[in-house]
Amino acid sequence: MADTIYDVAIIGSGPAGYTAAIRAGQLGLKVALIESATVLGGTCLHVGCIPTKALLFNAELWDHLKHAAEYGIDNVDGRTLNWSAVQTRKTSIVDKHTKGLGFLMKKNKVTVISGYGRLTGAAKDGIHTIDLTATDGAKSEVKTKNIILATGSDAKMIFGLKPDDRILTNIEMLSVPQVPKSLIVIGAGAVGVEFSSIFRSFGTEVTLVEFLPRIMPPEDEEISKELTRVFKKRGIDINTGAKVEKIEKTETGVKVTWTSNGKSVEKEAEKVLVAVGRAGRIADVGIDKTKIELDRGFIKVGEAQETAEPGIYAIGDIVAGLPQLAHSGSMSGIVAVTKIAGRKYRSVRRDRVPACTYSEPQIGSVGLTEAQAKEKGLEIKVGKFPFAGNSKATIVGSHDGFVKIVADAKYGEILGVHIIGPQATELIAEAVAVMELEGTIDELMFTIHAHPTISEAMLDAYAAVEGMAINA
Ligand code: FAD
Repeated sequence: MADTIYDVAIIGSGPAGYTAAIRAGQLGLKVALIESATVLGGTCLHVGCIPTKALLFNAELWDHLKHAAEYGIDNVDGRTLNWSAVQTRKTSIVDKHTKGLGFLMKKNKVTVISGYGRLTGAAKDGIHTIDLTATDGAKSEVKTKNIILATGSDAKMIFGLKPDDRILTNIEMLSVPQVPKSLIVIGAGAVGVEFSSIFRSFGTEVTLVEFLPRIMPPEDEEISKELTRVFKKRGIDINTGAKVEKIEKTETGVKVTWTSNGKSVEKEAEKVLVAVGRAGRIADVGIDKTKIELDRGFIKVGEAQETAEPGIYAIGDIVAGLPQLAHSGSMSGIVAVTKIAGRKYRSVRRDRVPACTYSEPQIGSVGLTEAQAKEKGLEIKVGKFPFAGNSKATIVGSHDGFVKIVADAKYGEILGVHIIGPQATELIAEAVAVMELEGTIDELMFTIHAHPTISEAMLDAYAAVEGMAINA
């Protein structure tokens, strides 16, 4: 191994790292992928995107069955949830895609190296050295012309608590032995909201506690309002502007104390999920030996994901200002290796990263919220179309939510799209493409959408900007 000099060595095999490795192979680079875990795929595949979406799909089916009689399906009243079968299906999906990654590495001639990688400083004669510690403690070195750091992130904990069987992060929550009777979720970002949605569907009494004044704080205000309305209708207890003061174990569960409007509130539940954000894994990777610059615990990068240390790039969740999402991470990996291969690249457009939350109801958004557009002093027009007017939404029994469009007042260019409701996480792809192509309301009002589809709500929402939605 020490004799081989790679064109690029990638540390970390999450979606950012493995995508970079595959594209590097496709571009003809000699590439190594270093991973300290026993499996490839990182947070997203093992304890993030994929297992949560698997559980959300089970939850969706379970919710449909609650209305079986309405759909003319009788005799399902005595149904029971086989939690261990739910877990088995989730695990088999993860396993299938883990195997798939192994296949893709071989197909693209990526050398997978098992071990923990650390930077050693600047390149010598154009060659970097990575210190590698194998799982059995054996030390070796990897030589490479370029390095891409893709070490990802870890769930943050509050009050220095350690996760266990009652105070959980996403990792423990995904494999609880049974559905808890009650759950307090601290943090109402995408992770907190998705777990609240999953377990509420399965009958858990869910309490959501958020420090900021509204749930899903980065989303357009109207999205937060609609999600609050639907979640309350679903029986989720929502507490915003709530500062958690204490988390204590009791005989049977966990008690959380928070203050809200000057009042102290206490609530006990079987389990507590802490979902208060994720910290970049930048400690103990040798960053201190380099010129890499940090911004509040994340790595600063330039247009091609390059750090301040020549020949070292950073991608994915560890990058300052890049949305902590699998798809922004993977695109940042593609940009970095394309640059390394000396090919033409485009920087990651951070303002065009779709944000998706796969709860019930789903949320998909891209671009400026109405408030952000106003803060920028832009003259805007806003159109909103409720799914209540969409015939396919009626067919699938999903009328909550709307599509909201923020457009430039003068030229009609789409500046932001905010969707809450059925298939929102799929519909948002159209909005991203439209924004990439600088589409305008005039063009989109004449763009044919098939009938009856949920996507027709997009057409109506574009038209709503001019006060001319057909179905509202
Ligand atoms: P990671 O996926 O964290 O991978 C980093 C890898 O690096 C790991 O395998 C780790 O073992 C390895 N590593 C770390 N240090 C070293 C080292 N020194 N040497 C060798 N290997 C090392 N995003 C979405 O887009 N859609 C979703 O639906 C979604 N759902 C999510 C649900 C949950 C519950 C969570 C927690 C996150 C979710 N995310 C989702 C976010 C997504 O998982 C992350 O944005 C994504 O995994 C980041 O990818 P990454 O490659 O930067 O890092």
